[in-house]
Formats: sequence, structure tokens, C-alpha cells
Amino acid sequence: MLQASGIAKSFGGNEVLKGLSLDVERGELISMIGPSGCGKSTFLRCLNFLEHPDAGSVRIEDVTVARAGKHWSRANEAEAHKLRAHVGMVFQAFNLFPHRTVLDNVMMAPIQVKKMSRDEAQSIACELLEKVGLAATKDRYPDSLSGGQKQRAAIARALAMKPSVMLYDEPTSALDPELSEEVLSVMRALDDDGMTQLVVTHDMRFARAASDRVLFVEGGEIVESGDPDLMFANPREGRTRQFLRTLL
Ligand code: ATP
Ligand code: MG
Repeated sequence: MLQASGIAKSFGGNEVLKGLSLDVERGELISMIGPSGCGKSTFLRCLNFLEHPDAGSVRIEDVTVARAGKHWSRANEAEAHKLRAHVGMVFQAFNLFPHRTVLDNVMMAPIQVKKMSRDEAQSIACELLEKVGLAATKDRYPDSLSGGQKQRAAIARALAMKPSVMLYDEPTSALDPELSEEVLSVMRALDDDGMTQLVVTHDMRFARAASDRVLFVEGGEIVESGDPDLMFANPREGRTRQFLRTLL
């Protein structure tokens, strides 16, 4: 359902992504791991064109964005805009609107972007807040929530746009273990519902226990990809082994 092909990106002379390709099946939960600075966030941002890759293409559902020429064209931007409608993104730093209640945060995009009626947006938002365990906090402001609650609100907000894939960039890195667990359990529940999810994470326990597949990225490429138990127990590549060893 998501197909990325030959994604390349340099910043000045720094070649960060050397042509990454990835096929994601509907309903898969994929964890992306790798050392700091290896390009995980850049890859995620290229997948929905928050960052313009120098080369490569991404297809999600029926939308394809291909970077062919030297310049990012108006047609590229129009396609990227359609593609983003299929993608929900969650960052490490929550990014909620501080002057809006939790409920308003979740309702806003469907009303503003999809021109949904307030009533319909509210009923969807309440359902999602229930799902992430925040029904009781819907009228509070983000500042009064714990980090785990904020992150669950951010997930509900992304889900309100009915994305076909969720991308997470270290969603639990700013959280204490028990608050992380609240967020991870929401992601597991979404997996049970059949949501397609790609997660950049430093949480190896989650990567191993919850993912269908793990990608190890280093030096601007996907070094190894496969079944989590097999990869953690017995990595095929020396570089993967070395990386996993540094975590012990
Ligand atoms: P971390 O685990 O620390 O989050 P990462 O794998 O997400 O690391 P990226 O943030 O994708 O790594 O960065 C990859 C490389 O690209 C780094 O060397 C970084 O300095 C560089 N980089 C990222 N964004 C930019 C930018 N906007 N301008 C210049 N260099 C950048
Ligand atoms: Mg990063």
C-alpha cells in the first residue's frame, strides 16, 4: 500500500539517503532502527514530502509522487498534497495547539481541511479520544496533560483525518517508561485494528515485540530488514550485529 523507491537526499555534500526503497503491506507495523544521524527522520519526512528528496518516488494508495527533474515542480507539489492526505504523522514533540482544548485539537483538521460539519467532526473526535483513553480529558488544554496523554491526543488528531498509514518519529523518546507504555499500547491496538504503521524508535523492546518487520538503517541505506525475533537474535549483517551490541 506504500511503495517508496530510490529515495535519495543530500544536504550540501552530506549524502544522507542513498536511494532507499521500501514496500509496506497494508496492516504491517514496521519499526525503523539505526544510529543517531543515519537518516531515519529524513527518510520519514521524505515519505510525505515534508522534505523533498533529490530522487525517487513514493506511492501511497492511488497517488504517486515522483521526483524526476532537478526542480520540484508545481505538479509535484499538487501530487504531494494529495499524498499527504493519506498520511498521519506523529512527532516526538507532540505539536498540539496549546490554545485549543484536546477535543478541538482533534476536530480542527477535519473541519478546516475536509470541510466536515462540526457535529460530524466532534462525533469522530470523541470516538477517537475514547479509543486512545482520553475521553475524560477532552475539554482540557494540552499544557495540563501528561506527556503520554499529549502523545495519545496527537495520535487521535492524526487519526481524525482517516489516514491509510501512520508515520511516527520517536513517539516515546520524550516519555518516562510508564507513559511510553500508554502510547505503545495505543499503537498495538491500532495494529490489531489493521492500521498500517511505520515507527522510528529507540525502543528495542517494542521493536522486537510489536513489529511485523524491523528495518536497520545505517550509512544512508537499509542494511537489513526482516522478522524482529530473527534479526535481534541472529542478525545477518555485521553492521546490524555491531549496532545491536552497542545497545546492550
Ligand atoms: P536521530 O536518531 O538522532 O534522530 P536520524 O537518524 O533521525 O537521527 P536525521 O535527522 O535524518 O537522522 O539526520 C541525518 C543527517 O542529515 C544528519 O547528519 C543531519 O545533520 C543531517 N540533516 C538533517 N536535516 C538537515 C537539514 N535540514 N539541513 C542539513 N542537514 C540536515
Ligand atoms: Mg531522528
